[in-house]
Amino acid sequence: MSNSTDAAEALLAEVARIRSEATTRLDTIPDATGVEALRVEVLGRSGSLTALLRRLGNVPPADRPAVGRTANEARQELETAFAERLERLAQGELSDRLAHEALDMTAPGRPVRVGHLHPLMTVERDLREIFHAFGFEVFEGPEIESDLMNFELLNIPPDHPSRDLWDTLYVAEPGSVEAGSPRPAEDGTTLRPHTSPVQIRAMRTLAPPIRVLMPGRCYRYEAVDAAHGFEFFQVEGLVVDRDTSLADLKGVLEEFARAMFGADTRTRFRPGYYPFTEPSAAFDIGCLVCGGPGCPACGRTGWMTILGAGMVHPTVLRNGGLDPDEFQGYAFGMGLDRLTLLRHAIPDLRLLMSADLRFLEQFSGGR
Ligand SMILES: [Zn+2]
Repeated sequence: MSNSTDAAEALLAEVARIRSEATTRLDTIPDATGVEALRVEVLGRSGSLTALLRRLGNVPPADRPAVGRTANEARQELETAFAERLERLAQGELSDRLAHEALDMTAPGRPVRVGHLHPLMTVERDLREIFHAFGFEVFEGPEIESDLMNFELLNIPPDHPSRDLWDTLYVAEPGSVEAGSPRPAEDGTTLRPHTSPVQIRAMRTLAPPIRVLMPGRCYRYEAVDAAHGFEFFQVEGLVVDRDTSLADLKGVLEEFARAMFGADTRTRFRPGYYPFTEPSAAFDIGCLVCGGPGCPACGRTGWMTILGAGMVHPTVLRNGGLDPDEFQGYAFGMGLDRLTLLRHAIPDLRLLMSADLRFLEQFSGGR
C-alpha cells in the first residue's frame, strides 16, 4: 500500500508544481500569444497537466478520486487564470491606446475644402444676372434634339447650304454601333449643335411677351484645338412681343456689353447671316487686349466679335406657333467659352475642360 500511496503523493506534488509554475509564468507573459502558448503547454492535448492525468491509472483505485479531483481543480483554476490574464491584457492594450491617443482640445480645426464655381459657370451666372435685370427669365431645352428642332423649324431645310455651318454629331441608329457599321439614326436625332432649337421650344411653351435666356451645352464634330472644342456652351436670347424692333435689340446688346465688359466698352454691329433671323448682324466689342489699334488677338482689326443676332425670321415665328403679322422678335446667341476666354485672357480653350486643378484653382475668387 505504501507504494501506491507514494504514487498518489508524487502525482499530487506534480500537480502542485505545475499549477504554481504556470501561475507564476502567467503573470510575466506580456501578450495574448504568449498566454495561448502557455495554455497549450500545460492544458493542451500534449500538455503537462494532461499527461499527468493520464498517469492516474498508476494510482491505487482508492486514491484516484482524490488525486483526480485535485488535478481537475488545478485545470479549472488555471483555465480561469488564463482567461483573466487575457482579459487584463486586452484592457491594458485599450488603456495604453487611450493613453497614447492624445486628444488636444486646443488644437485648431482642420480646414474644410470648399469648392468653387467653374469659370464658365461664373460667366454664365453673370449673364443670367445681367439679362435678369432686363426682364429675361431662363428657359432650358434638351441636349439631345431632333433634326426637326435643330434645323427644319429654324428655317434650315435638309438641302439648305447653311447646314454646312454645323458639323453635327448624330446619335447612332440603334444596333448599328454594335454591328460595326455606325450610321446616323433615321429620325436624325443629334447632340444639339446650337441652342437655337430652344427658341422654338420657348415660343411653343410660353405666350408672348417672351423674354428668355437659354444657356446650355452644345456639341459639334470639331477638330479640337486652342480655339475649338467638340463640346461647348452657348447662351441664346429671345424676345417676342407685339412691338419689338432692331432698335430694341441694339439697345439691349449695347447695355449688355457695358455691364459685362465695362462702361466704356465700344460696340458695333456688322451685317451678318443666319437662316433663322432676318436681318442678321454680328456684334463686336472693342478689342479687350489692345483697346483699338489692332493686335494678334483681334486679327489686327481692333474689334472682337462676341455674338450673332437678328430679328426672328417670320418662318421661325410661324414654326413657333406665332403669327408674324402680329408678333415680332429678336434673338441673339453667344459662345460662353469665348466670353470666358476673353474675360480671363485664357490662351487655350482646352484648359476649360481639362479638369486640371492647377488651372481651376486660379478662379477660386469667383471671377
Ligand atoms: Zn486687339
